[in-house]
Amino acid sequence: MSAKSEAVAKILAKIQPTWQPPTPLEGAPLVENALLCVLVRTLSQAQAEATIKSLKQAAGDWNELRVCQPQELQPLIATKDAARSLRAARDVRECLQEIFQWSHGYDLESLKEDWVAAGKFVTYLSFHGHRISHFLMWLAADKKTLPISAALVRMVDRLGVGERIGSLKKSRAPIENLAGGSKEVGAKEQDFLLRMSEVIDRWCHAQKPLCHQCPLVDDCVFGRKAFKEWKVQQVRMEQYRKKEEQRREILRKKEEEREKKLAEREKKRREAEQAKAERERARMQREEQRRKAIESKEKARVDEIQRRKAAAEAARVEKERQRKAAIEQKRKQAEQRKRDEEARKMAAAKAKAAAQLKQKAAAQKAAEQKRKEAERKAAERKKAAAAKAKKSSKTRRR
Ligand code: SF4
Repeated sequence: MSAKSEAVAKILAKIQPTWQPPTPLEGAPLVENALLCVLVRTLSQAQAEATIKSLKQAAGDWNELRVCQPQELQPLIATKDAARSLRAARDVRECLQEIFQWSHGYDLESLKEDWVAAGKFVTYLSFHGHRISHFLMWLAADKKTLPISAALVRMVDRLGVGERIGSLKKSRAPIENLAGGSKEVGAKEQDFLLRMSEVIDRWCHAQKPLCHQCPLVDDCVFGRKAFKEWKVQQVRMEQYRKKEEQRREILRKKEEEREKKLAEREKKRREAEQAKAERERARMQREEQRRKAIESKEKARVDEIQRRKAAAEAARVEKERQRKAAIEQKRKQAEQRKRDEEARKMAAAKAKAAAQLKQKAAAQKAAEQKRKEAERKAAERKKAAAAKAKKSSKTRRR
């Protein structure tokens, strides 16, 4: 065994694959095998195959499934475990979406036509990863040739186990030598591919390889350098973190100090405001008392004026009443005098009238007596005349 083969064997021994390729669906399109590879992440081989069968029966084409919601695909997943079926449904959508996005369809058979183009194409299939895409390339090549992708070339180059390789075409032979040295892809080559793909997917990313986590860091030329830089970076970051912590601590203390000063200032301001408010309240109270005193004085003055006015008015009214009473008394006295005068006059008139009546009655009585005397005298005369006549008649008759 050459030194290079020993180095590769040592490298491969450090890698533990976490995904095993499924038994491919013979004669099925590559898209179905892609789905199978994705589904076996969650389901068993039999469940994955049953799921693909259900999916094909349920939908007219793959596009219909791509635009479905995962919840719509869930009943087609051949498991009763809700969490696993939802995850598998999401994986189906993601798988179809990624294939559609980069191939504008679902025909992966083009992988068979140009292995160089295929090796570049699979670098876009980030959801599938290189373990699946290398497996699909291997299927596309009828399991006869070792899949060579840009990521695999990059990793081999970083490991430093081969010569510096420029292109995919030129890299094929050196990588085949590393994998086993055989043109045919047997179990050894498949294991090489699986373990290398595991590293590519988990750590050896194109832009930011995670060399500090990679199990091959001690055997990798690029990784050792990157790890050293990473450690330096970590030290710098730690120093920066400490400095940042110190800076933050200083800032925190300053902030605390500032807040304390602000709080004290605020406290003083509040106290001053409180004192001012107290003074203002006392002034207002004094002002209120003074105002009340003035009001009370004014009220007393007004009351006194009103009282005096009322007294003057009462006196005036009394005087007026007395004046009116005197006038009334005078008027009554005048009326009484008048009535007395009239009564006196009336009594005098009555007395005069009575006297006149008395005189008149006396006159009448006298006249009556005179008349009666006259009548008596007339009767006496008549009687005397009758007696005379009678005596004369008697005399004549004799
Ligand atoms: S150590 Fe870094 S560069 Fe080397 S294989 Fe691992 S991830 Fe890739």
